[in-house]
Amino acid sequence: TDKGSADLYFHYYGCLQHQQNMLQDYIRTGTYYAAITENPQDFEGKVVMDVGCGSGILSLFAAQAGAKVVYAVEASDMAHHARHLAAANPGIGDRIRVLHGKVEEMEVPEKVDVLVSEPMGTLLVNERMIESYLYARDKFLKPGGKMFPRLGRVHLCAFSDEALYGEVAQKSAFFQNNAFYGVDLTPLHAPATAGYFGQVVVDQLPPNVLVSNCVTQTFDFLTCSEAELQHIRIPLSLQVAVPCPVHGVASWFDVLFDGTQTQRWLSTAPGLPITHWFQLRCLMERPVVVAQPGATVSGELRLVAHNRQSYDVHVMLRAPPLTPGGPEQVSTGKFDLK
Ligand code: SAH
Repeated sequence: TDKGSADLYFHYYGCLQHQQNMLQDYIRTGTYYAAITENPQDFEGKVVMDVGCGSGILSLFAAQAGAKVVYAVEASDMAHHARHLAAANPGIGDRIRVLHGKVEEMEVPEKVDVLVSEPMGTLLVNERMIESYLYARDKFLKPGGKMFPRLGRVHLCAFSDEALYGEVAQKSAFFQNNAFYGVDLTPLHAPATAGYFGQVVVDQLPPNVLVSNCVTQTFDFLTCSEAELQHIRIPLSLQVAVPCPVHGVASWFDVLFDGTQTQRWLSTAPGLPITHWFQLRCLMERPVVVAQPGATVSGELRLVAHNRQSYDVHVMLRAPPLTPGGPEQVSTGKFDLK
């Protein structure tokens, strides 16, 4: 992994304000709390590892659920705060061993019964921390051990949102000026527009813009390999019920805590209480138009891992011809996940 970007990444998580942002996402933190403390059979007397412990909150939950020892691994300087927090919470904190470093470079004296982690980014896999979670599984988890969460799913759906499209298209209208201090700026309009459309939109998705069924891809953290996450291909087959322009693909994810006593889902779906992940949209510069109710928009969404904590997203959409005998509509877009 690129050194500079990893430094930036861990500097970000070393700041308490960013840990606070995650801690006070009560849907997130509350679901982890419930998933861990409602499954004491999975934690009582058990050896646990918290992969990327941040402030140490999940380690403290595991200790509350009865863990014998928790190895709390954190690469950023947040490890100092985690140590401090554990020390200040006697009765639970004394069972936590904070280890400062990357999980990939860590040694612990024993194999663990349970892994807990919060490695999800937008589109589930962004930030590429799930790869560290899988690495920890292969190196530290006992055969038959538990993972909290156990699997994640990415959901994709077609959306139609004229207002969003207009808003983004409008941003480059500045360059449609052929007399800017006597200078013709119009040659920059097309590349500026491409730049705006090349960024994913992360916000609270109004559920009424969704116009198709969902396609779901499941990643089983117990069995999935790091290699599978280098290049992810999700085929799309989206039936659009109402004739409309399809402006792109909306996505969100959920993860399952598959406890022995209770199962819980943490969902970031639209229409549910919002989380700090929001939802994500790939807005196409060239929408495809569905003229026949029920027509299928096909294509694919591909995620190609960077030499950084991120992916390039490639979207391709195909829709039937607008007029009988006309050409099939094809639209492609490439997006930075930032
Ligand atoms: N578990 C905490 C923090 C989650 S954010 C909570 O739920 O609130 C993810 C944390 O994992 C960040 O603090 C980040 O610095 C850390 N992290 C990411 N990759 C890591 C790696 N390879 N090794 C150790 N820590 C890592």
